[in-house]
Amino acid sequence: MRPDPLAYLAADLQALRDEGLYRHLRVLDGEQAARTSIDHRLVVNLSSNNYLGLTTHPTLRERAVEATRTLGVGAGSVRTIAGTMDIHLQLERRLAEFKRTEAVVVFQSGFAANAGTVSALLGPDDVIVSDELNHASIIDGARLSRAAIKVFPHRDVAAARRILEGVPRTHRTLLISDGVFSMDGDLGALPALCDLAEEFGCILMVDDAHASGVFGRQGRGTIDHFGLHGRVDVQVGTLSKAFGVLGGYVAGSRALVEILYHRARPFLFSTSHPPAVAAACLAAIEVLESEPELLDRLWDNTRFFKAGLGALGFNTGASESPITPVIVGDAGLAMTLSDRLFEKGVFAQGIGFPTVPRGKARVRTIVTATHTRDQLQFALDCFKTVGTGLGVI
Ligand SMILES: *Cc1c(COP(=O)(O)O)cnc(C)c1O
Repeated sequence: MRPDPLAYLAADLQALRDEGLYRHLRVLDGEQAARTSIDHRLVVNLSSNNYLGLTTHPTLRERAVEATRTLGVGAGSVRTIAGTMDIHLQLERRLAEFKRTEAVVVFQSGFAANAGTVSALLGPDDVIVSDELNHASIIDGARLSRAAIKVFPHRDVAAARRILEGVPRTHRTLLISDGVFSMDGDLGALPALCDLAEEFGCILMVDDAHASGVFGRQGRGTIDHFGLHGRVDVQVGTLSKAFGVLGGYVAGSRALVEILYHRARPFLFSTSHPPAVAAACLAAIEVLESEPELLDRLWDNTRFFKAGLGALGFNTGASESPITPVIVGDAGLAMTLSDRLFEKGVFAQGIGFPTVPRGKARVRTIVTATHTRDQLQFALDCFKTVGTGLGVI
């Protein structure tokens, strides 16, 4: 019998266990909600990106079902062959209106939007200047582009400037940042990055995955939040987080979108969304515009919970968003904190390397518009008991 060529994987898994980084996938017994059953235990769920509760919103549900009835379950092709349905274009037009840009192209996911766009816009002669905490999909897109990648320390605009000063103007340059950083909840230094991009003539790209539906008027994102319309060349948003469905999009000029039709590999080589996804995303925009109280409740809950964790003495970093990390340092400790919370009825995922740097392991919390005050108070009480027991506070 031939030896198993994958035998090394068992050793790799053991190494993950030894470091406290081994993860077992938690399973939701029912739907994604603020209080839900996970691994057969009823918990307050502080780990989803379902900021506005749209995963189970009646309007989205109804539109998805209706689209499935009238248009079927699948698109049947990639966008560039036979997989562009009228409903896909309706969604793109509606998003462009919402984002106040000339055009929008929707991708299967935020990951595909970032990786596909960065690799389509830049090539081997170009330079990418990227915040060190940018999302993995940006990093992968940058690698696929084969451009030179220069990383600046997190939110350090002066360091980004020094890098740009060293890049000859003959090189095409992309300056890129997350709008909201997913593991820390802080915002990219966007106004300063706009100034920098204009001064050095670079392309500016912002990934608003966690800001879509959360920041800006009616959830239009960080560009709207900071009043930077017209100054960010490439805006990425997601339909998978606050929008409650699935997908990513790029908003910008008509030329940008048309080039992505021709060059972005996930657009060219991977099947488009089922009609139900596009229909539910269209409904999500409608709900953002007609139910502003959802956003109000999200921010009320955010202020309440963040203040509560801070008052207990946890290190919550520099978050400015509904994402509040509880930073403990050691990965083993973060996983234990998360496990003990779960036993008490609170699901807040422990996160370690490679998702965050070594020594910065944490439990990440995300509140939503649909959490009740009682649920959040219960979670704070559990954090107090467990955090005290483990010596974190
Ligand atoms: C989640 C996330 C993505 C990926 O979005 P998906 O739609 O889940 O693929 C991209 N960028 C950032 C910053 C994210 O947090």
